[in-house]
Amino acid sequence: MEPQQAQILDGKLVAEHTLQKIMHEVEGLKSKNICPKLSIILVGENPASISYIRQKRKSCEKVGIIDDQINFSETISEKELLNKIKELNKDNSVHGILVQLPLPKHINERKIIEAINPVKDVDGFHPVNIGKMFLGKDYEELSPCTPSGIIKILEYYKIDVVGKEITIVGRSNIVGKPVSTMLTNRSATVTTCHSKTKDLKFHTSRADILIVAIGRANFITADMVKEGAIVIDVGMNRVEDPNSKTNYRLTGDVDFENIVKKAKAITPAPGGCGPMTVACLIENTIKATKILNSII
Ligand code: NAP
Repeated sequence: MEPQQAQILDGKLVAEHTLQKIMHEVEGLKSKNICPKLSIILVGENPASISYIRQKRKSCEKVGIIDDQINFSETISEKELLNKIKELNKDNSVHGILVQLPLPKHINERKIIEAINPVKDVDGFHPVNIGKMFLGKDYEELSPCTPSGIIKILEYYKIDVVGKEITIVGRSNIVGKPVSTMLTNRSATVTTCHSKTKDLKFHTSRADILIVAIGRANFITADMVKEGAIVIDVGMNRVEDPNSKTNYRLTGDVDFENIVKKAKAITPAPGGCGPMTVACLIENTIKATKILNSII
């Protein structure tokens, strides 16, 4: 008998489904003479940032959002960047502002994020949007995209989180902490782990749903996962691969090949959380457009 394989939670499929729904919403907005527009700021020429922006712009184009990429050299001053954000905040034709991270070391990322009008903060990183998320599910408005994408995958595959033991490995401001809050808002029992957690395996192996966002290739091994668990792999790591044209391949934070034989369901990486992050950015842009036009 063939060993059982986990169900693959296909982020590309869920992202496509999300974008199809948004496409109809964009048509509705355009019929009211509202053209959603996203401004994307790139500082420098980080290849990963360029590749992420390409994916974001492709999705904008697909659903009919106007996307405007603003490039600055690596040497731009913090003040110049802040001035550009002020200008975009005032521009009524712009509904979403995204500053692609990371920024060069001489620029304070927090200061830049906090300069964005919270209503145009489609990445959901502004303290106002993070604060709203803490108040509860009904207050979530422009939530961070990767956590929102994880919630959407769980919802699409009808994975109930109420009362479930969920362990999250990673406590970053963009993934671990917000997804922990959003799942608590949805009545899961959440444990958040990090580099100082004493017995990581104890926490991962009792999880009904395990979410991993640490940035270490194949770090979570099959012995750390409960039989029949749901595994969401957020990690996106470049590992050397001489057989690949680029000399590297992308891989997640979990040992997919072995965990797929033990878990009930698992996201692939790539092809899991990545496409969902982009889809949720597009969704946030539409939400921002509606809020700015007093439609919601
Ligand atoms: P980050 O800011 O570097 O945070 C990493 C977290 O992992 C930290 O909280 C750190 O703990 C924890 N950690 C590191 N080593 C650990 C260990 N040995 N045991 C337990 N915890 C450990 O990373 P991030 O921005 O959240 O990203 C995490 C991964 O997700 C990366 O691979 C990134 O590329 C990927 N990612 C993917 C998407 C997507 O759309 N697919 C989006 C965002 C991020 P401390 O806090 O104690 O240092």
